[in-house]
Amino acid sequence: MPPVHPERAQRVEGPAPAVVAYHVRSGIVSLNVVTGALAAADDTAATDVHFVRSPNEMAATITALAAAGRPVLAAWSFYSTDFTRTAADLARLRASTPAGAALHVAGGVHATSEPAATLRAGWDLVAIGEGEATLVALVRALAAGESPRAIAGTAHLAANDGALTTTGAAPRLPLDTFPPFNARDGRWNAIEITRGCIYACSFCQTPFMFKARFRHRPVDDVVRWVRVMVEQGGRYVRFLTPTALSYGSPDERVDLAAVDALLGAVRAALPAGGKLYFGTFPSELRPEHVTPEAMAVLARWVDNRHLVLGGQSGSPRVLAAMRRGHDVAAVERAVAVAVAAGFVPDVDLLLGLPGEEPDDQALTMQLARRLTDAGARIHSHAFMPLPGTPLKDAQPAPIVPDVAAALTALEGRAATYGQWRAQTTAAAELVQLRRGPRSP
Ligand code: SF4
Repeated sequence: MPPVHPERAQRVEGPAPAVVAYHVRSGIVSLNVVTGALAAADDTAATDVHFVRSPNEMAATITALAAAGRPVLAAWSFYSTDFTRTAADLARLRASTPAGAALHVAGGVHATSEPAATLRAGWDLVAIGEGEATLVALVRALAAGESPRAIAGTAHLAANDGALTTTGAAPRLPLDTFPPFNARDGRWNAIEITRGCIYACSFCQTPFMFKARFRHRPVDDVVRWVRVMVEQGGRYVRFLTPTALSYGSPDERVDLAAVDALLGAVRAALPAGGKLYFGTFPSELRPEHVTPEAMAVLARWVDNRHLVLGGQSGSPRVLAAMRRGHDVAAVERAVAVAVAAGFVPDVDLLLGLPGEEPDDQALTMQLARRLTDAGARIHSHAFMPLPGTPLKDAQPAPIVPDVAAALTALEGRAATYGQWRAQTTAAAELVQLRRGPRSP
């Protein structure tokens, strides 16, 4: 069995590499996307990918592949809120697999933001930033018996002194360089139509992970993958984008012709009875983009009745501090326009931002009541100090008891939903993680 080790540089003769993807929790979509990228290159397209859902299953798969002489790349991806649990899974897995049986590579937003902590928690290598080209290059390196540590877009701990060593950024390529999901293995997900974000909301990881500019997947490429999904039995399409009505635009403007062209072409590619969801999870709308004209385009093509709007706060001071780029009135206007067009707006509101005072939270709850009276539902969130963001070291403000009680009352009449309680717990865990220890 040839050991897979970051230091290995001698050529390996024998079977081609295999990929084992830890397909659980927050890593599922990322792993669909990066393993789908293998299909884009002739020399990696035949790489077998094994999707596993537990440490035991992963251990058995790695052990069997390694015993057959296969170099194994174990692929992991997780959000910050899953880091501690996933690191514990890795530790269990390592305890039950032969040393060096697989190269454990972590990618995604947390590993990119916290490479040293991720490596110290037990991963061999971190894929920094966008993972598609990096995974292709890693599989090629394993096939050639070359050191994966030399691949661009990776980080590792130096063998001599444990110092964090990086190889620079992974290339940021046009979105249509790679498929939006793993079609060969039937692992579909929402089609990413836009990557990166020109806005710079201080709580959000997107602009810091993918850069503060938009890259859009061209309409013909989106349609190509919709057709693939339909051929495989798919009947509905969702989109992944930071701000849905920014499709086709380079800046703050809305290009409704581009949105109309996208939705019309996708609708034409769907079979009768196929469903098209846009402007709802996971593709929300910025409030200032919601106009009667935009609603008319959506009403023409989409099947969703609900639209998700980013509102975030009822406090002008807090909106400005988090650099949202819109005011409170824009949120209320958007709700009125969406309701008039026949949609039910679900408005994201975020509580517990650093520096938020009880008066700010009271303003947010007043906004929540006005919005629900106007026909919206509230999707409530609690602030989490996410790695990679300007607020990563910030202390969440406590959600005051009156506000928590008001949120609970709104939940009681189904006017609000959301994970704010669980996120409050996750925020406390992130603060603790930052203080250390950094590994379980
Ligand atoms: S919250 Fe939305 S609009 Fe703001 S930076 Fe993140 S993705 Fe962009």
